[in-house]
Amino acid sequence: MSTREPAAASNFIRQIIDEDLAQGRNDGRVATRFPPEPNGYLHLGHAKSICLNFGIARDYQGTCNLRFDDTNPEKENLEFIESIKADVRWLGFEWTNLYYASDYFEQLYEYAEELIRAGKAYVCDLNTEQMREYRGTLTEPGRNSPYRDRTVEENLDLFRRMRAGEFEDGERVLRAKIDMASPNINLRDPTLYRIRRGAVHHQTGEAWPIYPMYDYTHTLSDAQEGITHSLCTLEFEDHRPLYNWFLENLDVPCQPRQYEFGRLNLEYTVLSKRKLTELVTEGHVDGWDDPRMPTLAGIRRRGFPPEALRDFCARIGVTKSDGMVEMAMLENSVREHLDTTAPRAMAVLSPLKVVIENYPEDRVERMTAANHPKDESMGARQLPFTRELYIDQADFMEVAPNKKYKRLALDGEVRLRNAYVIHCHEAVKNADGEVVELRCTYDAETLGANPEGRKVKGVIHWVSASHGVPAEIRLYDRLFNAPMPGAGKDRDWRQDLNPESLVVVRGIVEASLSKVSAPAVFQFEREGYFCVDSRDSSTERLVFNRTITLRDTWAKIAGKD
Ligand code: ATP
Ligand code: MG
Repeated sequence: MSTREPAAASNFIRQIIDEDLAQGRNDGRVATRFPPEPNGYLHLGHAKSICLNFGIARDYQGTCNLRFDDTNPEKENLEFIESIKADVRWLGFEWTNLYYASDYFEQLYEYAEELIRAGKAYVCDLNTEQMREYRGTLTEPGRNSPYRDRTVEENLDLFRRMRAGEFEDGERVLRAKIDMASPNINLRDPTLYRIRRGAVHHQTGEAWPIYPMYDYTHTLSDAQEGITHSLCTLEFEDHRPLYNWFLENLDVPCQPRQYEFGRLNLEYTVLSKRKLTELVTEGHVDGWDDPRMPTLAGIRRRGFPPEALRDFCARIGVTKSDGMVEMAMLENSVREHLDTTAPRAMAVLSPLKVVIENYPEDRVERMTAANHPKDESMGARQLPFTRELYIDQADFMEVAPNKKYKRLALDGEVRLRNAYVIHCHEAVKNADGEVVELRCTYDAETLGANPEGRKVKGVIHWVSASHGVPAEIRLYDRLFNAPMPGAGKDRDWRQDLNPESLVVVRGIVEASLSKVSAPAVFQFEREGYFCVDSRDSSTERLVFNRTITLRDTWAKIAGKD
C-alpha cells in the first residue's frame, strides 16, 4: 500500500479491541471476517465493511476471513462468488482463510440436534401465515405454537425425516424454543431450519433438503472460525440477543462478540442489493459492472482507483449511527488521487477542424509535453503538430461574448497548448450555418515564447488531424439526479434516474494513446479524468470512460457552491 495513505483513525470498535487486548481477552487474538451473501455484486457499502474488517486484521496482526454466507441457494451463484473475491482483492486486501457457511452444514445440523435434545428446539407444523399470526406484533406478545411441547423423541424423529427429504417445502420448520412473549421479536421462537427440497446449492449440490437460517448460521460460523469481534451493521442490533442465546446454549469452541456500526448511505445512488439487482434485470444499466453502478465492479470500470476508495472509507470513519454521506466526498477522494497519479493527455471530445494556412502541408513538428505538470518523474512525450488540427467546438465562438473570454474567436488569437499562438481569420460554415472549419495562421515566433507586443491569455488543447486517433468517449454522470432517490410520498426511486447519466461522443485523442489498455487513467486536459474501458476498448477501437469531471459540477446545482 502506498505511503501516502493515512494511518487508520481510531473508532469505537478499535477502542473496544484495544481494551480487550489490554485485558488479555481472547488470548490476545484479534479475528474478524467479512461475510457477504453471494447473491449480487459488492457495492460501496461493502467497501466500508471490508476496509473495517480487513483493516483491523492488518493493524492488529490479526486474521480476517472471507466467508460466503450461502444459505439461500436459489439466489446465489458462482458468478457472484468470483466477483466478490476479485473485488476484495482489487480493494487491496487478502483474506486469511476462505470459507463457506455451507462448509459447516454438517456441524450446524449436529448443533440443531443438540438443541433438540436439550429441549431447546422443536419441529413446528404451522404454515407461514399461521406463524405470522402466532408471532404477535411489536405491541402484542406472541402465542405459543401448538407444536411447542412435542417430546424430544418426536422432535428428533421429525427433524431427521426433514433431513431425509420426507416432507414438502414449507410443511415443517425447526424452531428455537425461547420466549413467545419476549419484547424482542427475534427471540419469539425463531426459525432455525426450513425445507428447500428442489434447490441445487452451488457448493453442496443436492445433498441437503433443509437449509439453516441466517442468524443461526451466522453465529455458529463465527464461533466455528474462532472470530473474536463480529462486526455488522446496525440493523442487526436487535439480533444480538439471539446471537448470544446460541452461544450460551450450545457447546461452541469460542465466544465471539457482536458489535454494530452504521451503514454507509451515499447520496445520488442506491446501496441495496435488491435495487441494484433491479437496475440490472430491468435494463436501466448495462450490467453489474456498468460504470454508473455503485458496485465495486462498476466503479473499477469507471476508473476509480482502489486507493481513493480506501481513503474515502478512512475519511467517513466508523460510528454507531447511520448517516448520509455526500457523493462529493467520494468524488473528491478520487480527484485528489487522480490529480497526482494520472498522466496528462490531449483529447478533443467534439472536434472542429482547424487549417493553419501558413504551415507547410508535409511538415510534422514534435512538440515536447510534460506528462504531469508537477511530477517530472512521469516524463514527457512528443506531440505531432501539423497543418490540420482539431480543437473542441466549445473552444470557438464567432464573437467573443465578453472581455473575459479566453478561447478562440473570429479575428482573435489563442495559444495551442505546448505549441504556437494561432489567429483565426475565417469560419467556414455548412448549408445549415454551422461552423465546420476554421481557417487560421500561426505565429512562428511564439513557440515557448510570448508574442511580440500583445497579450494572448487563452490556452486550449488540440490534436493533430493526421496523427490523432478516433475514440468513442462515454461521458458518465451520476446515475440519479436526486440526492435520495425515491424520497417523498409515493415516489419510486426509478423516477429519479438521471436520463443524462450517459452521453456518448466520438472524439479524437492524441497519437500516444493509440495502444493504451485498461486500467490506464488519464487526465484529458481541461476535460476531466478518463479511463480505458476494460470491456470494450481495443487498439482497433478505443473506448474511454469519463471517470470524473475536473471540478464538482453538481455543487452549483445543489446550491453548495
Ligand atoms: P444489502 O442490504 O445491500 O442487500 P447485505 O447486508 O444483505 O446488503 P451482505 O452480503 O449480507 O449484504 O453484506 C456483507 C457485509 O457487508 C455485512 O456484514 C453487512 O453488514 C456489510 N454491509 C452491507 N451493506 C453495507 C453498507 N451499506 N454499509 C456498511 N456495511 C454494509
Ligand atoms: Mg445481509
